[in-house]
Amino acid sequence: MMKQYIDEAEAALLHTYNRYQVVLDKGDGVYLYDIEGKKYLDFVSGIAVFALGYNNKEYNDALKEQIDKVIHTSNYYYNVPAIEAAKKLKKVSGMDRVFFTNSGAEAVEGAIKAARKYAYLKDGTTDHEIIAMNHSFHGRTMGALSVTGNPKYQEAFQPMIGNIKFADLNDFESVKAQVTDKTCAILFETVQGEGGIYPATEEFMKQVKALCEEKDILLILDEIQCGMGRTGTMYAWQRFGIKPDIMTTAKALGCGVPVGAFLMTEKVGQASLTSGDHGTTYGGNPLAGAAISKVLDLFEKENILAHVNEVAPYLEKRLDELVEKYEFIETRRGVGLMQGLVCNKPVGDIINKALENGLILINAGTQIIRLVPPLVITKEHVDEMIALLDKSLA
Ligand SMILES: *Cc1c(COP(=O)(O)O)cnc(C)c1O
Repeated sequence: MMKQYIDEAEAALLHTYNRYQVVLDKGDGVYLYDIEGKKYLDFVSGIAVFALGYNNKEYNDALKEQIDKVIHTSNYYYNVPAIEAAKKLKKVSGMDRVFFTNSGAEAVEGAIKAARKYAYLKDGTTDHEIIAMNHSFHGRTMGALSVTGNPKYQEAFQPMIGNIKFADLNDFESVKAQVTDKTCAILFETVQGEGGIYPATEEFMKQVKALCEEKDILLILDEIQCGMGRTGTMYAWQRFGIKPDIMTTAKALGCGVPVGAFLMTEKVGQASLTSGDHGTTYGGNPLAGAAISKVLDLFEKENILAHVNEVAPYLEKRLDELVEKYEFIETRRGVGLMQGLVCNKPVGDIINKALENGLILINAGTQIIRLVPPLVITKEHVDEMIALLDKSLA
């Protein structure tokens, strides 16, 4: 049965993914089931999306209720779910203005436009520069791709949007070296995800922030993967006592309903995008609003941040045991429930073996096993994962 669906998929879908040979059917808590009923422990959560676990009744009910009322209206009218979602998002982020999008890449596009407009309103010129980081990932659309520091992803699609410069995360001198009078923004992920689970250091964050303030450059933090509680604070930058001018969020924000947002401070909000500058048909529609609103309610009600802070040290400890045990695992890197096992060889075979053993994992780059589980995992789930991973490594 599985084979037939896979053949049909390969005949109909564009070949942009090398998919794992499994057809998933349903989910419950931290487990997924394929169409033949095989059960998998999920340490990927749809790539840092399904934070609350699958089949959460309260979340499902909120969506069903909204579907029966209205799914979509248009951004030319107000709707209560989006208003509620925006208020709650402001509260947890400490940012002032919200624009809802349909994806992470689209949030990054909006952030880039906001930064360019801010600079344009200051000096009337249009050739401003953005500094992004090597090994970064910001999405696949042309603007987001342009700030993605991975030449392999860009090569066939040149030219990029232009005036983008690259520096190295945690190397402040490399950032400073790229700053000119034309720099309008410095953009990076607080914890690099796809690029290999590299957390920005406190020192780097503070140095970049101070530089931005000194030169009126906007600090844009991409929190699409590392945000929404994954590192133990709602947004990863909140550990550092600094604040971005613009930030992006998506992935776990809707817990599966395709949503994103870019947020900004009042200062940027009052001097950047304005009526007619930006828009979206779907972004922040009633269904999206209901999803975001309920996700943020459940984060509070289920004490997700406290839970992450409790379970993450245990995950780190158990992963470190594997680092000790296996020669080819060089180190562990990460924050909270965003962890990578850095190996000295490609990890594709290990991930396939794990899948066979009923454990869903994913890579970040070719040599890193990435663990971004649902935020509701317990220590027992960690033990179960370690046992399955150990078996797959052996
Ligand atoms: C996934 C991701 C994106 C892109 O989000 P999409 O919803 O896939 O467009 C952007 N930035 C980061 C850090 C991501 O992890």
